[in-house]
Amino acid sequence: MYMNTSNEHIQAFIDKVYKKVKPNKSGNVATYIPQLAKADPNLFGICFVTCDGRVFKAGQSNKTVPIESISKVFSAAMAADELGVNVINEKIGNMGSSLPFNSVIGAVLTPTHTINPFVNQGAIATTSLFYQKNKEAFRKKILSNMDKYAGRKLSLNKPVYKSEGATNSTNMALSYLLKSFDRFYGDVDDTVDVYTSQCSVNVSAEDLATMACVFATGGVHPHSGDRIISKNAAKYTYRALRGEGLYEYSAKWDTDVGAISAKSGVGGGIFIIIKGVGGIGLVSPPLDKMGNSVRGIQAGTILAKKFNPLFKAHATFCKNKKTRRKKHKKNKKTQRKV
Ligand code: GLU
Repeated sequence: MYMNTSNEHIQAFIDKVYKKVKPNKSGNVATYIPQLAKADPNLFGICFVTCDGRVFKAGQSNKTVPIESISKVFSAAMAADELGVNVINEKIGNMGSSLPFNSVIGAVLTPTHTINPFVNQGAIATTSLFYQKNKEAFRKKILSNMDKYAGRKLSLNKPVYKSEGATNSTNMALSYLLKSFDRFYGDVDDTVDVYTSQCSVNVSAEDLATMACVFATGGVHPHSGDRIISKNAAKYTYRALRGEGLYEYSAKWDTDVGAISAKSGVGGGIFIIIKGVGGIGLVSPPLDKMGNSVRGIQAGTILAKKFNPLFKAHATFCKNKKTRRKKHKKNKKTQRKV
C-alpha cells in the first residue's frame, strides 16, 4: 500500500490516533522519584517532525515532562561522536538486558557490568566519560548537548532534580559497584549529580520529535540543516538503541513495528526514530508495569507502523532522499546510453 504523504493526510491520521488513544486511562505515574508522582495523568501530546522539517501535532504537544531515561541517548551519541564508537563500545559495551533498568544484580552478573548505554549502569558510566573537576562545566557539557538536538535551550526541572537527588541511593550504589569493577570513569558523587540533572531536563512532545529526527536524518537538524553529530555516530546510536530502549518491552516492540529505534523515560516521554522519515515524540505520564508510557506505546505503535519505510513507500518524506533517488535514476539512464 502506498501511503499518502500530503500534509492534510498525515495531520488527519495523527488526529485520529490522538482521539483513539486519549480515553485510555490505564497505567500509573512513576512514584519512586517523589516529585514524579505529582505529574498530570491527563497530559497527552503527540508530535511528528519529518526529515524535511514538517511538523504535525496533536493534543498538548508543547507541555513538558522530565526527559529522564531518554537523556541517555544523547550522552551515548556524544560519546560516539566525540570519543569514537570504538571507545564507547570498549568502555560501556552493548549487551542485551532482561533485568530492570537499575538492577544491581545486572551490574554484578553481566560480564561488562556496564551492560549498555541505555540502562542506568551504562548510562551513568557514559556520563562519567565526560567527567571534569569543574562540576558546572561538566554539567554544562552534558546538558547543552541536548539543547543542540532540540534547537532551543531546554529548562531544568528543579523540583524533580532535587527530589531525584534526595532519593538516588540505587544509582549511587550502582556507580560505586561499577567503580569497583573499574568500569566507571569519573568521581561518583559529581557524576551521579550531573546525571540526575540530565534526567531532570524538561521536554515536550515537539522537542522529543525534533530530537529523534536528528537521528532519522543521519545527524542533521531538520529545521536548521546544521550537522549535529557525524553520520557514523548517528548510525551507531540508532543501531545500539534498537531492541534496548523500551525496558523489558523492547524485543516485543522490535517485532511489532519492525526495526524502529525508540526510547522511553519514567517521566512519560517516548521518542521514536524512523530512519529517513522523521521523529515521533509522545508525552503522557501514566506508565505500564515495564515503565513505558501507556498512551505513548499505544499511539507510538500505530504511528510507527504507519510511517515505517519497511511497510510503506516514503520517498516524499525526505526531500534529500528524493533528490538522491532522482540523481541515481538519471545516472543509471546515462550509464545505459553509454
Ligand atoms: N533518572 C531516572 C533514574 O536514574 C531515569 C530512569 C528512567 O527513566 O528509566 O532512575
